[in-house]
Amino acid sequence: MAVIAIDGPAGAGKSTVARLVASATGLPYLDTGAMYRCIAWECLRSGTDVNDAEAVGAIARSAHIVVSGETVHLDGVDVSAQIRSKEISSVVSIIATHSSVRESMREQQRSWVASHGGGVVEGRDIGTVVLPTADLKVFLTASPEVRATRRVQQSGGEIGEVAASIRQRDHIDSTREDSPLRPAAHAVEVDSSNKSVEEVVSEIVAHYKDSVLQDNG
Ligand code: C5P
Repeated sequence: MAVIAIDGPAGAGKSTVARLVASATGLPYLDTGAMYRCIAWECLRSGTDVNDAEAVGAIARSAHIVVSGETVHLDGVDVSAQIRSKEISSVVSIIATHSSVRESMREQQRSWVASHGGGVVEGRDIGTVVLPTADLKVFLTASPEVRATRRVQQSGGEIGEVAASIRQRDHIDSTREDSPLRPAAHAVEVDSSNKSVEEVVSEIVAHYKDSVLQDNG
């Protein structure tokens, strides 16, 4: 089975697009952001300082995370809705800077792919670090205005506040030392600003078919 890596900043439409690419190609889908959100959730629940790399790393090593489509279980508890809160979004990038956390997440993501025999995997460092040998690597972007507007339409909130929160998260994600957000070598860059979801999905599926056909000679 094949692997498609989809990376990009917050609000570029990765989750929607990745889910539809998965159903169009018949591949299973993994949202790796949900895994980082679980660790942030557990930090807030247990009152752990999100800046304490050692303590947060210990949480990441012991957390039992099961992501199945849009349903996310942490240590047997369904946290699918809770991990999408504003509070989690505002601290998740901090816990994601810790190498102790990233190591555990990388390991779990690679074993998910191995046990599923491939998949559409969505995140920030999938094409660069987690699965650099993916059959297709996509870097999905959109203008900051479009990304903020989409987030407001999806989850509500005030546009200025949402835009500021996205800017802050992108800044932390792209300037951290361990696996920063950036396009992977040979990634196909897709700007979704002026495209419908359907257009973006069919563009990615076309690239996927090309890469599979090329490989099969
Ligand atoms: O994709 P989502 O917005 O749910 O990701 C939440 C956060 O998790 C990101 O802003 C980033 O800090 C972190 N993340 C990451 N690496 C990934 C996926 C997510 O650092 N592969």
